[in-house]
Amino acid sequence: MKIVLATSNSGKLREFKQMCQEEVVAFSELLGDLDIIEDGESFAQNATIKARTIYEKLQEQYPSEPFIVISDDSGISLPLLGGSPGIYSARYAGEGATDKANLTKLLTTLQDQGVTRTPAYYTAAIAIISDLGEYVVHGWMHGDAIDHARGEKGFGYDPMFIPTHYTQTLGELDDPIKATLSHRAQALALAKPIIQMLQRSAS
Ligand code: IMP
Repeated sequence: MKIVLATSNSGKLREFKQMCQEEVVAFSELLGDLDIIEDGESFAQNATIKARTIYEKLQEQYPSEPFIVISDDSGISLPLLGGSPGIYSARYAGEGATDKANLTKLLTTLQDQGVTRTPAYYTAAIAIISDLGEYVVHGWMHGDAIDHARGEKGFGYDPMFIPTHYTQTLGELDDPIKATLSHRAQALALAKPIIQMLQRSAS
């Protein structure tokens, strides 16, 4: 059974493909480009909106094929900023903003407040949908946000995020280290037994 990822974010896709032993395909390979309006009020709601939209489109276009759709909605939250950017992480610098513009805005926000380092955490909600129903799991990664970017690895806000117990940012740490620590990896560890159960039930 095909596992379809409901994301077009290249950073997330790369991480999912590295973390999943199973073959996963991006929805765009089957459906082309789709603009999905994420108007939920939580990571879980937005992940479910994305997965449902893709699942329904797949059912329309491939009615006799079974699919498991997984989607991730994620972001970074700073308690200092009342939890911002949170669910608005992808559009912190405005609708359609690039990762770089969002990163720059968060750095500038800290610099304007004279804050050099402050607690922060990433959240990932993963929604899993198949003909057997809908599931949502969460993962978190805690650490600190700093007021300048360091390193080119990872994506998004990684150059300004130092995970707890580390001195380097996720922009400086190698991918395999992030893969053991990340909010997405924690959520995926919970998602995997559900995906396996769905695969077993279908065979
Ligand atoms: P989404 O695609 O709507 O879930 O948006 C997630 C946004 O949060 C992305 O644009 C990234 O900027 C940010 N984000 C989520 N996960 C990560 C991560 O692992 N590293 C860096 N930024 C992330």
